[in-house]
Amino acid sequence: APVLVWFRDDHRLADNPALAAAVASGAPILCFFIFDEISEGFRPLGGAARWWLHGSIEALDESLKRLGSKLILLQGAAESVIERIASETGASAIFWNRRYTAEEIAVDSAIKKSLTVRGIKAHSFNGRLLNEPWEITNQSGKPFQVFTPYSRAVGQRPVAAPLPAPQNLESGNWPSSILDEALSLAELHLEPVRPDWAGGFRNHWQRGESAALERLADFLDGGLKGYAENRDIPGVEGTTRLSPHLRFGEIGPRQIWHAIAHRRSHEPGLGRDAEKLLSEVVWREFAYQLLYQYPDLSRASHSRRFAHFPWSEDEKAFEAWQKGLTGYPMVDAGMRQLWRTGWMHNRVRMIVASFLIKHLLIDWRRGEAWFWDTLVDADPANNAFGWQWVAGSGPDSAPFHRIFNPVTQGEKFDPQGNYVKAFVPELANLPSAFIHKPWEAPPLVLRSAGITLGRTYPLPIVPHGPARERALEAFRRLRDEQ
Ligand code: FAD
Repeated sequence: APVLVWFRDDHRLADNPALAAAVASGAPILCFFIFDEISEGFRPLGGAARWWLHGSIEALDESLKRLGSKLILLQGAAESVIERIASETGASAIFWNRRYTAEEIAVDSAIKKSLTVRGIKAHSFNGRLLNEPWEITNQSGKPFQVFTPYSRAVGQRPVAAPLPAPQNLESGNWPSSILDEALSLAELHLEPVRPDWAGGFRNHWQRGESAALERLADFLDGGLKGYAENRDIPGVEGTTRLSPHLRFGEIGPRQIWHAIAHRRSHEPGLGRDAEKLLSEVVWREFAYQLLYQYPDLSRASHSRRFAHFPWSEDEKAFEAWQKGLTGYPMVDAGMRQLWRTGWMHNRVRMIVASFLIKHLLIDWRRGEAWFWDTLVDADPANNAFGWQWVAGSGPDSAPFHRIFNPVTQGEKFDPQGNYVKAFVPELANLPSAFIHKPWEAPPLVLRSAGITLGRTYPLPIVPHGPARERALEAFRRLRDEQ
């Protein structure tokens, strides 16, 4: 009898424990993917993530074809799709790598239970994280709430060596009843047609496992040295940009971990840079650990103090933020980078999130939802964690009173204005002394740069000082009410 391999956010052949175990079983293998937006509580993917998924599935199918297999695409609620696949194929077992939202866990447990009753073995693996969320606990056996001790505990555990990609794969035969139901990739309608807003994405990204491995190799050669400093400078390519590849499992954290460790052991002097990058990978682990502990991470402020926060309903301000028309160049550059490329630099994510929540007093969940729709790396754990961290509402997050000043942040991390100029071309001719505060430029300077504030580029939609005071006052009042 054949065995089934169900791909879900683990679109790779290398270091894929579910696939490796299926191959080791010696049985013929049937590979499939289910596009499921209807199982209870499943959050539909945003537009940018759908775009990525298209290329990710396409690349995985090509890799499987090179091994003599292929990826069958099905659509619907996973539980009923699997029910049909299991009975039509007569499979003896199914293999998958685990997922971590509460809704996915519920579906996977239900499937496991019903297959077991029918004598079909369901084997699940960790293909997404260095450690399962339940594996790292403090001395009293409880999950950590704070990053530093969590990270220390992670550092004390060995990281399993990544598994090689299978060299060949005995492919099973799909029954025609399932093939009749299967969809072509085009039939999933994952990519935009008209308007084609993904044009800029194609110039920035190569999707799929081999692109991910190439990006990692390039980064180790050209970017790792100096990462600890460069990672905070949005105007240079100082980070790996592996986040969308990790999101869709085109590469796994064990592969990254070992590649960095290997490089570091051969190249003295990389210590600080390697440590820093490894610690970013651990932040991702920490976010998953929190999502597992708090399934509502994307839906509700963890701190109850925020339950009565007087969020603003200013739609015009929200729209100005989404479009990158706030009048603060650093914020606008970030929001436009996001729209144009589907990605935003981490430093700038913090700046724009702080601006939305604190300068505009708009609910962080609206920002989280916009990121969910527009980021190619939109991740159920990292995105919610990032927003709660900036809001100051999450476990182990920045305090609310830390309010980023978009001008001084810009001057510190983009001193020449390279980043702003790349994404806000209407300011390209402004001298760097004014690039983060065009309203302070003398009229003559503005005129010779071709800028008319309020017409070619907006004046700030809120003044920094009073906005800051208003945010602090709103927060103070909450505390008083408690
Ligand atoms: P690198 O610096 O090269 O880091 C390597 C990897 O480490 C990243 O790919 C990522 O997986 C992980 N990592 C790095 N920083 C963080 C972090 N702060 N938290 C968790 N993991 C991290 N990251 C996402 O992957 N998806 C999201 O939806 C997401 N939303 C965010 C929202 C906000 C408001 C904030 C402040 C951060 C968010 N992040 C998110 C985290 C971070 O900004 C991105 O992971 C990072 O910018 C991706 O670029 P990179 O791969 O070049 O990072």
